[in-house]
Amino acid sequence: MINLSNYIREIPDFPKEGIQFKDITPLLKSPEAIKESLDQFLALLGDEKIDKVVAIESRGFLFGMLLAEKLNAGFVPIRKPGKLPSDTYSEVYELEYGKDTLEIHSDAIEKGDRILIHDDVLATGGTARTACNLVKRMGGKIVQCNFLIELAFLNGRNKLKSFPVESLLKY
Ligand code: AMP
Repeated sequence: MINLSNYIREIPDFPKEGIQFKDITPLLKSPEAIKESLDQFLALLGDEKIDKVVAIESRGFLFGMLLAEKLNAGFVPIRKPGKLPSDTYSEVYELEYGKDTLEIHSDAIEKGDRILIHDDVLATGGTARTACNLVKRMGGKIVQCNFLIELAFLNGRNKLKSFPVESLLKY
């Protein structure tokens, strides 16, 4: 069996000093690692029915779209401000220094839709929590939040307490 951690490259001090960036491009260039990741994501979801995969810009789109296809679900992008062309809902969240905003198309989710939230990395959890807030506001039911990588020492799970959280690799 493939060990996915062999496909994650650590880049020190990127994009700024003190950050250990988890680079997933070695995983993305390996067909075996892509397949293994998808198999593991699907196993962790079990037989839960998903209507839409909601994925976070931009690296969340990569496996988000593949998962949507495998799950026979739709795909919904959550993006940085000003990128989505139609009407949006937006939510502001706190960063270590300052604030940021995420947006979703206001017609992206129907009340009662069963949602899988996906991103590449769970760090402090602020980004995923904001995505969950947007989905909840629109009446979606969050079935699971999943991530390729969880930086467990940052306790991002605490911000996602009300939702099931799964990750393929923990650091
Ligand atoms: P957070 O809101 O702190 O959980 O940050 C999550 C977002 O930042 C995700 O969209 C990740 O892609 C990105 N991110 C945070 N920390 C890292 C890291 N060490 N390596 C790669 N991406 C990261």
